[in-house]
Parts: sequence; C-alpha cells; structure tokens
Amino acid sequence: MSKLKAEAKPLREPLPMGAKTGATVVVEPLLGGELKAPPHFLQTTHEPGTRRAEIQMLGLFSRRSKFNTLPVPAYLVTHPTAGPFLVDTAFHASVSAKPSANLGRTMASFAHPTIEPGRDVPSQLRERGIDSQELGLVVLTHMHFDHTSGIAEYPAATFVVSAPEWEDATNDSKPFMRGYMPNHYDYLFDYRTVDFNQPGVSSYASFGRTFDLFGDGSVRLAFTPGHSAGHCSVICRLSDRDLVIAGDAIYTYDQLEGGDPPPRPFDLHNWRRSLRDLQQFAATYPQAVILPGHDPEHWPTVEKRYE
Ligand SMILES: [Zn+2]
Repeated sequence: MSKLKAEAKPLREPLPMGAKTGATVVVEPLLGGELKAPPHFLQTTHEPGTRRAEIQMLGLFSRRSKFNTLPVPAYLVTHPTAGPFLVDTAFHASVSAKPSANLGRTMASFAHPTIEPGRDVPSQLRERGIDSQELGLVVLTHMHFDHTSGIAEYPAATFVVSAPEWEDATNDSKPFMRGYMPNHYDYLFDYRTVDFNQPGVSSYASFGRTFDLFGDGSVRLAFTPGHSAGHCSVICRLSDRDLVIAGDAIYTYDQLEGGDPPPRPFDLHNWRRSLRDLQQFAATYPQAVILPGHDPEHWPTVEKRYE
C-alpha cells in the first residue's frame, strides 16, 4: 500500500482532448538540464546487474575529469486540436539556483545537475507563449528523478504514465536506491495510469502493446519495459514519418545499434525485448526518427523541431 498522498485513476479510453482524423504532431526536443555521470554510467562492459557492472557504473575509480555531461531532455509535442503537451519534465527550474532543494544533497553532489540560466523548461515554454501553470497534459516515459523533477510546475496537467511504473514508483520502500524521488510527484494532481493489458491496447508495427493517446493514431504510448518496471516510449506521427521518443529504453543511439547494455536495468530480459522492438522498428522504417534518452554525442545532432 502506498504511503503517498498522490493517487492515480486508470485511463481506459483515449483522452477526450480533441481527436482529429489523420492528425500529425510537431515535436520540439528541449534541453531541460544536464548532469555529470561516470564514463560507464550509460553502458557497461560487464554483465548488467552484477557487482562489477555496478562498481563500474558508479565510477568509483574514475576521475571526475572523465565524467560525461549528459543531456536531460523534455519534449514539447503539439497536436492540432488537443494543443501542446510535454513528454517528461526534465529538471525543475529551481535546479538552476539550488539543485539540492529539488534533487537532494546526495544527487546534487554526485551528479552535479545544472540548468543553463533562463533555459529551464517553463522558461522555454513561455518563449512559445505557453504557461506551464496552465499546461493540460504531461506524459511520463517513466518516473525516475530526471524525468519527474519538474512535475510541480504543471499543477493543471493530467499526467499519463503506465500502471506498472506508477505502482513501482509509489510503493517502493527504498525509492531513492532505484532512481525514484517521491517528493517530485507526491501531489494531489490528476494522475492517470495506462494498463497495457486492457481492451483497446493494440500492436503497432514492431511494438506489441501500444495505447492510442488521443484516439486518432497521432500519439501512441508503446510499452517498452525493462529500464524501469513500466517504461514507455512515445510514438509521434509526423507529416511523412514517425518519431519515437525512446526515453531511457535506450540511453544512447549506440545501444540501438547493438552497443553495450546499461549497467543496471530493472529487468534485463525485458530491457532486451524492448530494445529488439525498437531495433526492428528502426530496421523497418529507416526514415523514422528515434531519440535516445541521454546521449551526449547524439544530442547535438537532434533537430530543434520535427514536423
Ligand atoms: Zn533518465
């Protein structure tokens, strides 16, 4: 039983926000902060889940000068009738001035989270005429701290997340050890959970279980568990191809291409299955855009706007 005051209701039908037959969306990747990570934080040369992988992940024997600066993205998606919404929140704006207030002292000192002054996600939304306080929808690929940090900035939003992710993030007795910070989401907000066993969930291309968010096929949540208990990727229909916000199902583009696995996925077997779904999609639709979760080399090649 969850000790949190936050509660979620199931989302059984597409959101009634304005489906439009044949709708396509615009996707704007936003850099919502950065953090420092040891060289093998994203990809291990050991067997994932082992002690050696964990030691290598934490970089106990790596010099800080060897740490990588990782992008922490959020995605602004604009639907022609449902309007703008976010996929993930990246860091809360307060992280630019005082990272420990939102992320805690351990994370602040270990990962050096930063936001370039004035480049927090709400400021980037404001530049586009969008008030974060009034935004109506946020989709979460999963609930690890670097994706939920900014939740409090969207009090009017409906938050959509998979049911197993919500269960894990709100019931864990040691959430911090597994990347969850309940202080980010323990609000009486409108949380909706998607059960990928319910009627209406269908396959799409290589993905076995997808949920049509608006009911018009423009945005689909694809169940890609493994990185975390209920991780989802988000498939967005652009005018002439699909764009997949892969989230942390792949940290890097190299992983999509068969590179070294992550050091500590929640479930290695499911991580590999979800990876295969993404790989098969990429092979079938070579023109599709696939965006990894935290790839420092790939991020500079990501376009400002996809339509
Ligand atoms: Zn992440």
